[in-house]
Amino acid sequence: MLKTGKEHLEGLRDGRVIFIGNEKVDDVTTHPAFKNAAKTVASLYDIKHQSEFRDVLSFDEGGERYSMWFLRAKNKEDLRKRTAAHKKIADMSCGLFGRSPDHVSSFVTGMSTNPSVFDSDKYKFGNNLTAYYEHMRKNDIFATYAVIPPQAARNPEFYEKQNLPIPTLRVVREDDDGVVVSGMKMLATSAVFCDEIWVGNLIPLDPNQVKEAVTFVMPCNTKGLSLWMRQPIALNAENEFDSPLTWKFDETDVLVICDEVKIPWEKVFVMDDAILAREIYIKTPAHCYGNHQSNVRFWSKMQLILGLCSKVAKSTGADQIPAVREVLGRMSAQEATISGMIYGQIEAAEEWPAGYMTCNRRMMYAALDWCTENHSALIDELRTLCGGGVFQMPGNVHVMHDENLRADFEKYFQTPQMGALDRMKLFRLAWDLVGSEFAGRQQQYEKFYAGASFIIRNHSHRETNWEHFDGIVDNFMSGYDVPEHS
Ligand SMILES: Cc1cc2nc3c(=O)[nH]c(=O)nc-3n(C[C@H](O)[C@H](O)[C@H](O)COP(=O)(O)OP(=O)(O)OC[C@H]3O[C@@H](n4cnc5c(N)ncnc54)[C@H](O)[C@@H]3O)c2cc1C
Repeated sequence: MLKTGKEHLEGLRDGRVIFIGNEKVDDVTTHPAFKNAAKTVASLYDIKHQSEFRDVLSFDEGGERYSMWFLRAKNKEDLRKRTAAHKKIADMSCGLFGRSPDHVSSFVTGMSTNPSVFDSDKYKFGNNLTAYYEHMRKNDIFATYAVIPPQAARNPEFYEKQNLPIPTLRVVREDDDGVVVSGMKMLATSAVFCDEIWVGNLIPLDPNQVKEAVTFVMPCNTKGLSLWMRQPIALNAENEFDSPLTWKFDETDVLVICDEVKIPWEKVFVMDDAILAREIYIKTPAHCYGNHQSNVRFWSKMQLILGLCSKVAKSTGADQIPAVREVLGRMSAQEATISGMIYGQIEAAEEWPAGYMTCNRRMMYAALDWCTENHSALIDELRTLCGGGVFQMPGNVHVMHDENLRADFEKYFQTPQMGALDRMKLFRLAWDLVGSEFAGRQQQYEKFYAGASFIIRNHSHRETNWEHFDGIVDNFMSGYDVPEHS
């Protein structure tokens, strides 16, 4: 099934509990902090129904139509189709929606190619995972995940020694019909716009953290679940012209808090196994499928950054200066670099797991590392090109609503390169990417959404065949020895 935007928004009016400070949000589709981003989410569903994008964004299997991110790739052509769908979705938010509906669903699709990983000696949850994959694609589910324990609460001993309650989400009871969990997880981006939340552990747990080693999924309106929203950024935007990105792309981030939440057994995927809790992401293509989407999403954002660098330089006339052209050339090379890293992952795809194909994992992690490492510098290049232009503009677009002020504005603010209003529109957009609170959240997101940088590099280290590289050195050194004494 392919949901429409309207159907998706209706599903969000399900009694979910969301707090902004002490305010309880009744309806995310109408609340000023969320309503415009909710419309953006709806548009991601509606586009699948446009005939020109139907085959880019969905596929047929067994007479049913499914979103493309549920395609289990059997060859490079399938991988190309997945990439093209991610790109189309990412382009719709210029790469500013990290957790679009194709992110976590790609994790689950990757898992579904190797469900036996979920069968341990104690629990056989492989069938639960397969059933969840079928449920997701059949109902076109939008899920996010909360897979990180809250900061500074990763060591239960600290709390136990001081006789304090442990804040990290854990199993508190097992019943015949399911497990009961309590505690917090950080930081579910987009959860307020999702149908369901996947909860688990993407960073390693200590083997004795058995009760925290639980992986499950729950609907966003589950009894006992509350979503604590960070400061909403969208409230800063008075109109779209002055804050075009803030206006409709605040995808939101919440703390997930569970108070005696019952999870039926069929929605549990890992239980009491600290090692397996993490391995499900890397012994299946889950992490690779999901983060390939992140790479593609960053590519869309890079294209926006490059376009803004070019337009801003043109608007000031700086594009004619050789030193600035060199900067633009370097930025263009950066855009080509990320696109090459994405195409390369498909060309060097791996036949893994049996019967399926996955993007090249090392190249995917290299791209992830590259994006995390370079985002701030890329934004800073745009900031440099903007100069003080961002603050040269009137306080807001209402200057156009006063006849006299408008005449002065149009007279004084025009340049040989551009009219006053077009300049103002351009610099407002640029500021929303380099300096507004929205821009600040983007910086934090790009640094941390896949874990701190040392976590990403650990993935690269794990996936490297060190014997191959050591062998090159050994082979070279075997070609010579201690010279004969002359
Ligand atoms: C905007 C945003 C959105 C997010 N969305 C999601 C989401 O949708 N789902 C989800 O599950 N999570 C999400 N996260 C959470 C994200 O996964 C974590 O922020 C990330 O894993 C880093 O953990 P932390 O924030 O606790 O930082 P910490 O682990 O506390 O690290 C902070 C800093 O401390 C230093 N440091 C700590 N430990 C070490 C070490 N061992 N070696 C070297 N340096 C160290 C590093 O400088 C590091 O950058 C999001 C985060 C942000 C900022």
